[in-house]
Parts: sequence; structure tokens; C-alpha cells
Amino acid sequence: MELNFENITPFEEQEFKRNVITTNLDQLKGWVRSNSMWPLSFGLACCAIEMMATGGSHYDFDRFGVIFRASPRQADVMIVAGTVTKKMSPLLRRLYDQMPDPKWVVAMGSCATAGGPYVKSYSVVKGVDQIVPVDVYIPGCPPNPAALIYGINKLQEKIRYEAKHGKKVINR
Ligand code: SF4
Repeated sequence: MELNFENITPFEEQEFKRNVITTNLDQLKGWVRSNSMWPLSFGLACCAIEMMATGGSHYDFDRFGVIFRASPRQADVMIVAGTVTKKMSPLLRRLYDQMPDPKWVVAMGSCATAGGPYVKSYSVVKGVDQIVPVDVYIPGCPPNPAALIYGINKLQEKIRYEAKHGKKVINR
């Protein structure tokens, strides 16, 4: 949007630029959503311990607006933290389906991204992206809290980018 500062004083122009932002509704929604993510509170294996540590006071996930929720109806982010077994996968999908749109998925750790140390096991899914669409992959066994925070920051960037450009970024 073009702004015309012809008929105002330099002080007014300065105050206007300091106090007024121009945007559109999609970008505003993207900014709000990226700063108030509510992950569904569940963990599948050892990676969940690191996720819980990230939610504690030392790493303070809350400062990014990340607040864990107990119900999928109130959550918009699923952090898959741990080993996804074939027995668990229909339940994981059901939880994902119960989350309202828009929603995002983070695959945390090598188990969730590709099967991890259990890649040869008959009972383990070799990547949660076979069950739900994944937005961010975080490598590691386990990734530490700093890695999870970095992954969430990347997800925030992705949400804002998609809102700005009006298109979904496909990872695969
Ligand atoms: S990636 Fe490693 S730490 Fe994470 S759930 Fe799998 S075995 Fe456990």
C-alpha cells in the first residue's frame, strides 16, 4: 500500500511510521497463529522426555506462545515425540483428525522421522509422514530441547511464509 505524506509535518510522519503498521488479514492471522501454537500433549517414547524438558521452566517453551493442551480439539500442533508403532498409528491418525484446521505436525527425533534404531523392526512405522503430513522434521536420537525450539521456530517461519504467500509449502 502506497502512503502519501505530502500534507503532514515531519513529526507526524515520524509518529505515523513508528505507531502504525499496514498488513492484510491473512498475514495478521499467520502472525497470531505462529505466536500461539498449542501442541497436543502426548509422547510416544524417550524423545518425549526432551519435549517435557522443553516445556519446563529452564527452556520455557511458553515464551514462544507454545502451550500444551490435553485435548486434540484445542490443539493445532502435533509434536510426534518418539517411536510410532504400527499398533499406535491408527490412534495417532484419529487424534490428528480430531484437531481442527489449520494444524501442523512436527516429527521429533529419528524414530518419528524415519524409524530410528528400530528401522528393521516389523512393528515400527518408518516415519510418521506415512500416517500424517509432516511440516518440520527434527533429527537426533533424541534431539535436545534447543533442537526442538529451533524446529518450532522453523515452523513459525513456515506459518508466516504460507500466510504471506497464500500457499502451502510441501516438504516432499
Ligand atoms: S529417536 Fe532415539 S530418543 Fe527418540 S524415541 Fe527414538 S530411540 Fe528414543
